[in-house]
Amino acid sequence: MKVGFIGLGNMGAPMAANLAAAGHEVTGFDMVAPCPEGVTPATGAETAAAGADVVVTMLPNGDILRSVAAQIHPAMAAGAVHLDCSTVDVDSARAVAEAAAAAGLSAVDAPVSGGVGGASAGTLTFMAGGSQDAFDTVAPLFEVMGQKAVHCGEAGAGQAAKICNNMILGITMIGTCEAFALADKLGLDRQKMFDVVSTSSGYSWTMNAYCPAPGVGPQSPADNDYTPGFAAELMLKDLRLSQQAAEAADADTPLGQAAMALYETFVEAEGGKGKDFSAMLPRFAGRHRTG
Ligand code: NAD
Repeated sequence: MKVGFIGLGNMGAPMAANLAAAGHEVTGFDMVAPCPEGVTPATGAETAAAGADVVVTMLPNGDILRSVAAQIHPAMAAGAVHLDCSTVDVDSARAVAEAAAAAGLSAVDAPVSGGVGGASAGTLTFMAGGSQDAFDTVAPLFEVMGQKAVHCGEAGAGQAAKICNNMILGITMIGTCEAFALADKLGLDRQKMFDVVSTSSGYSWTMNAYCPAPGVGPQSPADNDYTPGFAAELMLKDLRLSQQAAEAADADTPLGQAAMALYETFVEAEGGKGKDFSAMLPRFAGRHRTG
């Protein structure tokens, strides 16, 4: 396929490189980042989009996505698909899909799970929203960039699935870290805590696969001084998106709200920026009970 790829940052660059390595004809553009090997550089977003069967965007947020969409839609060939893989708010995803339809194009919102490691290895999970036809068109690209793609529903459904998943992840990480810090204060060995919880009803992905305690469980960012991994500020971004959506949809999400507030304090006032989101454990372990 002829693919335009806009946004060649930490995630976009390896994704575009994998598409090129699989034999797709990829033209890329980023305002700052260079094109990875195998990707032909374009002089602008419009140029990268012109004549492509599919234009992939991998951008920082909804506002930037909307402005890039306004730039590229007029340049795209009739019937082409705008595949956005960024994590953005549900409203922006729906607005971009509407703009695409008005321009005679299709759109798929397909945020990813799996991080930079998954992007490089081609093992991302895609959560997709959009029509069946558009999903079928981009499915071969999902196969190259990922190991799984779930068609979640119409426009915005991919973003909805992503923020719900990551709200669970943020809440669960905080719960796991809180429990480890309590266990410390009760004199319980962290390895014993892991041995019990990872095989009991408190088990979770954060405990079993991404344990926040160094030297315990499988290798994780905790074993590398909490170098991300999945940075605390990216978790904060996703929790904010979840609460923005909850507010718009009138959903009661008290733990999501509390998780957002904790990551906000951690990132903005406690030096958590640039650390993995599992660094909540040393944060809790170093504190006393308040209130
Ligand atoms: P990044 O900041 O490394 O990359 C974004 C790129 O977009 C940058 O290179 C920037 O120069 C480019 N850009 C910004 N505005 C542009 C414009 N108008 N035209 C062209 N290029 C423009 O971010 P990332 O880590 O690659 O993340 C991209 C998206 O993926 C985000 O929405 C993020 O939330 C999501 N995501 C990231 C991870 C992760 O672990 N990094 C995991 C899952 C999802």
